[in-house]
Amino acid sequence: MESQEAPAVSAKRLELTPKALIHHKYGRTACYRIEEVKQHVENDCPGLVIPQQFRSLYRCHLDLPDLSFTSDMFPKKKDAEQAAAKIAIEKLGIHSTSATNDLTPEGASYELVARISGLFTDEFLSSTHPLTGHFGVAFGVMREHFGMIPISAITTCDVKVHNLCKVINSKAESDPLLVSSLILNAARKCSSLCTATDELWIWKEAPYSPEAIASVINHHSESLGCVQIEALRIPCSIEENVEALTLDVSNEHYYLDLIAQKLNVKDSSRVLVSRTVGKASSEMKVYFPYPEVPHFSDSSSGLKTSSEGKVSIEPIINQRASYLSGQDIYGDAILANIGYTWKSPYLFYEDVSLCTYYRMLLAKFPDGHYKLSREAILAAELPTAYTGRSNWKGLAPRDLLYAFCRLHKFSEPVFSITRINADASLSVTQRKSNSSKPTDEVDIANGDVSDVGEKNLDNSSIFRCEVKILSRRLEPIVEGSFTDTYRKESDAIQCSALKVLLWFDKYFKQLDMPVEVLSSSGHAHGIIVHAENLSHEFAMCSSIFGSTKNDNLRECSSLESFCKYYPNRKEENGMVVLNIEGPDSGVFPSPGSLICISYAVALVKIGDPVKDHLEGKDEFEFEVGTDAVIHQLEACATQLSVNQSAHFVIDMPSRDLILAAAGDAIKDLSKLPLYNCFLEYSVKVLRVPEPLEDRMEKALFSPSLSKQRIEFAVQHINECSAATLVDFGCGSGSLLNSLLEHTTTLEKIVGVDISQKSLARAAKILHQKLSLNSGVPTSIRQAVLYDGSITVYDSRLSGFDIGTCLEVIEHMEEDQAFLFGDVVLSSFCPRILVVSTPNYEYNSILQRSAVPTTEENTAPCKFRNHDHKFEWTREQFECWATDIALRHNYSVEFSGVGGSSDVEPGFASQIAIFRRSSFNTAETYFKTEDSSQPYELIWEWADSQHLK
Ligand code: SAH
Ligand code: MG
Repeated sequence: MESQEAPAVSAKRLELTPKALIHHKYGRTACYRIEEVKQHVENDCPGLVIPQQFRSLYRCHLDLPDLSFTSDMFPKKKDAEQAAAKIAIEKLGIHSTSATNDLTPEGASYELVARISGLFTDEFLSSTHPLTGHFGVAFGVMREHFGMIPISAITTCDVKVHNLCKVINSKAESDPLLVSSLILNAARKCSSLCTATDELWIWKEAPYSPEAIASVINHHSESLGCVQIEALRIPCSIEENVEALTLDVSNEHYYLDLIAQKLNVKDSSRVLVSRTVGKASSEMKVYFPYPEVPHFSDSSSGLKTSSEGKVSIEPIINQRASYLSGQDIYGDAILANIGYTWKSPYLFYEDVSLCTYYRMLLAKFPDGHYKLSREAILAAELPTAYTGRSNWKGLAPRDLLYAFCRLHKFSEPVFSITRINADASLSVTQRKSNSSKPTDEVDIANGDVSDVGEKNLDNSSIFRCEVKILSRRLEPIVEGSFTDTYRKESDAIQCSALKVLLWFDKYFKQLDMPVEVLSSSGHAHGIIVHAENLSHEFAMCSSIFGSTKNDNLRECSSLESFCKYYPNRKEENGMVVLNIEGPDSGVFPSPGSLICISYAVALVKIGDPVKDHLEGKDEFEFEVGTDAVIHQLEACATQLSVNQSAHFVIDMPSRDLILAAAGDAIKDLSKLPLYNCFLEYSVKVLRVPEPLEDRMEKALFSPSLSKQRIEFAVQHINECSAATLVDFGCGSGSLLNSLLEHTTTLEKIVGVDISQKSLARAAKILHQKLSLNSGVPTSIRQAVLYDGSITVYDSRLSGFDIGTCLEVIEHMEEDQAFLFGDVVLSSFCPRILVVSTPNYEYNSILQRSAVPTTEENTAPCKFRNHDHKFEWTREQFECWATDIALRHNYSVEFSGVGGSSDVEPGFASQIAIFRRSSFNTAETYFKTEDSSQPYELIWEWADSQHLK
C-alpha cells in the first residue's frame, strides 16, 4: 500500500500532499483522529504457538468544520491520515491550492456559474453529494415545486459554492443573505437554469433523464415514518426567551418546508441558512426568513437593495443568533440540527436542546470553555493562577485562549517568547511561537520534566512571553506585555495566555465599561487595550448580555429569603453552611495542594421538598488557593477534613448558567421563575493527594525525612540545654507536636506562621495533647501560637534559646528569604538558629526513584512541592547563610539529613546551624526600644502550676 501511495504524494514537485492541502484550506480546524483496529492474523500453521495473532491497522477520521471523512485501514498512521485527506479533497472538489488561491473575483464568478450549472445535471444526480438528498425530495414529494431547489439547499450543502462566494466578496463569510444573492445571480447567468423574478428557486429547463430521477428518488427514499425533532426558536427580540419547538418530520414533507412553516414564510425557498454553528454537528444551523425588502423584484443585480440608495426597510438583525453563528441573521430564527450529509443518503437529524444552546453561548465566554471542559459549569471557575500542568485541571490556558479567539473569529493569538540568559541578563533571542498545535506540544513539554524541564533549567535561561490578540482583519485588540519571567518556556506561554483570558473575563463581567476605564483596567493587568477595536468586536455581546443580566435582578436575593425562612441560619461569605458531617480525620489540604471532592448541585425552591439535580461529580479535583472553583465551594471544602461532608446554599447564578448546566431537567426549568430559589451544594472531601515532596520523603527515607529533621532539631535543643524555642513557619505544628513526645530541656515553645488554616490545625492538636491531659509527661509549661510573617519582627519572640525554621524559606519568594535571614539574626536573635531547606541537587535522585503511588497526579513538578518558590543548590544555600551570618555576627556550620555530606550530591535536606557569637552580649543585640508586637495571638496554653 505504501508503494502505491508514495509516488502520488511526492512525484509531482509542485503538488502539495493531501494533508498539506487540507491544512492550507482548513488550518487548525482540520482534526485527524486515528483509530486503531486490531486485526486477527490468520495463522497459516495452526499448531504454531507464536503470540503474534493480532496486528494493528489504523483508520483515520478527518473532521472538518462541516464534514467528516474516514480512510481505509493502513498499517501506518500517516498513510491513513493522507488517505483521509485525499478522500476529503476528492469529495469536496478542492483544487490544488494554486488553482483556488490564484482565483480572482472575476474568475470565481465564472467558476461559480460553472459549479451551479454542474449541480443540475444527470451526472450530479447520481453522485453522493448531500444536495442529491434535496433533489430526491424535489422529485419525490414536491408537487408544486417539482424539480425545484431552494437556494438555501445549495448554501447548506456545497462547501465549494461557499468558498467561491468568499472569493467573489469576502463579506460572504459572514453574510448568508449575500451568499444567496450571489448564487441567484450566478444561476441567472446559466443558460440552462431557470429562476423566477420574484422567487428563490432554481431549476433546470431541460428535463433530466428518467433514470437519473428514478435513481435519486430511490437512493434517498427511506421510511422515516413520522419523527419529532426538537429545535429551538431564537426570537429576534431579546426580551423573548429562546424556546424549544418541535418539527414533525416525515416522508411526506420536505424538512425545509417544515422550517418555512415555523418561520411563517411562504415556502422553503424563503428560508435562509447559516453555516454550521458550534462543533457538535455539521448540520447544526440557523434558519431564518428571507428579509422581505420592498422593491426586491426590481433589483436585478442582487437581493439587497439598500446599497443602491432605494427606499428600503433595513431588516432587523437577530443579535443572539448572529452572535452564536458569527453570521448576519435577520428576524426570528430557528436553530436546528438536520440535513443531508455525505455520510448517508438519509436525512440526518438530532434534537437541539435548550441546554445545547446555552452551552454554546457559555463556550463563548472567556471562562466558559474552561467550565465546559471540566464539565463543571456550576462549580468550576477559571483559575487565577497557573502553577504547572500537574495542578491545572481541564484545558490548558493556551488552548482556552485559542478556542476563545476561534469562537470570536479572531486570528490566532500571537505569542512572542523572549529567552533571557541568566548571565547575559539581556534578551538574546526573540521569536514567534509558531507551534500551531497547542494541545500536543504543551502536554509533551509539561509531561516530561526530566527531559524538557531540566533542559531549560540547566542552561539557566528564563523566559518571558507576550501575547497579541488580533481581529480577523489583523487589527490589534489587546496586547499583553508581561514582564514576569519563567524557568520554562511553556510556563511562560501558559501564564501569559491565562492573564489575557482573565482580563477578558473581567471585561465580560462589565461589558458596558466606558472606553477610558477599559484602557486603565487593562493597564493594571499589563494589558494594552485597543478600546475601539475591542468595542467593535464585542458590540454584539454587550447588547445581548447586557439584557440577560436584567433577568437576574430580583427584589430580594434568594439567600435573604432563605434566611428569612430558616431564621436560625446565618449568611457568611455569600453562603449558608448547613452542617458538617463525619469525624475529623485530621487530614486537610495544604496550600498549593490539590483536593479531590465529590459534589452535587441542586436547585431548591423554598417550601418545596422536591429538588432538581443540576450538576454533580463523583470525583472532582482542583488546586486549593487559585480560585479554581466558586469561592463558596472552596471555602466549604477547605473547612472539611478527608471523609467529611457538608451542604451549603448560595444565591442563584445567572439563568443562562443554570440552563447550560441543567441538562435533561431543562424543560421545566426554562419556565421556572428564579426568585425564591437557591442552589444547594453537597460536598464531600474524598482525599487530599499528598504533594510529591511528602510522598518521596516518606517512601525513600527511613525514618522519613521530616522525622529526621525533627530528631536533628531535638539533638541541638538538648545539646545547648535550650529552655525556650520558637518555630518559624511552624505550619500545622509537626515539630511542636513531636517535641511533646521527646524528652527535652524545653519549657516554652512558640510557633508562628502566616497560614491561619495550618495554625488552626496546630492549635487543635496541641490542645488535645496539652489541655486535655492526654497523659504525656513533658517538661513544657507553656505553648503559644502566633499568626504573622517571619519577615516581620515581633518583640515577644526575641532572644530565644533556639529558633527553628524547617522547610520554610523555599515557600517564600527569594527576596523574602533574604529578608528573613536579616530579620531573624538582627532582631529575633536566637542563641541558635536551625534552618533547613531542600537541596536542589538531590532532586535528580528523588525523581529517578519510582515512588509507588495510586494517584493519577504523579507528573513530577519542577520542584519537590508545588508551593516551592525556589530550591537551592548547596552553593546557593551556603552563600545565603554565610552572608547573613557574617553580617550579624553569627557563626554558621552546615549539615543535613538524608544522604551524606561525603557522597554526591550531598544531603537531601540541607541544614544550616547558626550560633550567636559568644563575645556578643545579648544587650548589643536586642533592640529593647523596639517593642512592636504585630503578631496576632492565635492560641495559648500554660500549665496552671506555671501560672502561679
Ligand atoms: N515547618 C513546618 C512547615 C513547613 S511548610 C514543617 O516542617 O512541617 C512551610 C510553612 O511556611 C507553611 O506553613 C507556610 O504557611 C509558612 N510560611 C511561608 N511563608 C511564611 C512567612 N513569611 N511567615 C510565616 N510563615 C510562612
Ligand atoms: Mg517545603
